[in-house]
Amino acid sequence: MGHTVLELAADGGKAPAAEAGGAAALQLAEMTVSYGEKPAVFSVDARIPARSMAAIIGPNGAGKSTLLKAALGIVPRLSGKVTVFGEPFRQARHRIAYVPQRASVDWDFPTRVIDVVLMGLYRELGLLRLVRRRHREAALACLDRVGMADFAERQIGQLSGGQQQRVFLARALAQGADLYLLDEPFAGVDAATEKAIIAVLKSLKEAQKTVLCVHHDLATVIDYFDHVLLVNVRKIAEGPAATTFTADNLQATYGGRLASAHIDQLKLPA
Ligand code: ADP
Ligand code: MG
Repeated sequence: MGHTVLELAADGGKAPAAEAGGAAALQLAEMTVSYGEKPAVFSVDARIPARSMAAIIGPNGAGKSTLLKAALGIVPRLSGKVTVFGEPFRQARHRIAYVPQRASVDWDFPTRVIDVVLMGLYRELGLLRLVRRRHREAALACLDRVGMADFAERQIGQLSGGQQQRVFLARALAQGADLYLLDEPFAGVDAATEKAIIAVLKSLKEAQKTVLCVHHDLATVIDYFDHVLLVNVRKIAEGPAATTFTADNLQATYGGRLASAHIDQLKLPA
């Protein structure tokens, strides 16, 4: 079971007991997803180790967002099995927090920042959705972790993209999950926000949580992540970043879309 948000807020997250048998945090078996005739994701196997900082990498339209959404059951799978910490997805879904790609959220509806974070506490609020003082304090503690406590009463729609991204991360923290799935958390954010987000993600890893991000910036892969999954509809390669994030695998993933001059500039493992 995941820890409650109150514990998470109080001590920054405690290590869960070791997973029996070293089960992967997320395992996909032969997952195929199609919106039309051609599959967006084809027969992908993946094994994201528990307690890793992992990245899904691939060109635009490679099916990265689709992969996450299909793993979560947000879009239907044609085939494939999803296992979370060794359990079928249904049994373990409460252990997962998801931060969607920011562009996909439209905030015309007026919502305060604090209420967005309180949404992450829905499991704690009970049937009547009664927000008590301790819930509010827990939500504020999560906002504080992302440097947004001063914005609690603001309307989410009035914040910058980077500030919104931090609030969504705070909502994920409020869930007290063990597995955090984030779709391009650094896309279009300012440098200060990027630093704040990566610091929180690293603290999650230190607290024995698992983080899996769709990530677009090849220049930061080696600094940020220890496990990579390279995809372009199919899986191209998966494994430790140090041995998998290689020029050959990048060429296979991006094909002609990535100039070799660009690859030469990357901080690739020796
Ligand atoms: P990525 O996140 O890697 O950029 P996506 O998973 O968003 O890629 O999209 C993969 C492919 O599926 C693309 O060709 C995209 O146009 C298509 N696609 C994504 N979402 C939908 C949808 N809701 N309906 C139809 N096609 C979609
Ligand atoms: Mg995407």
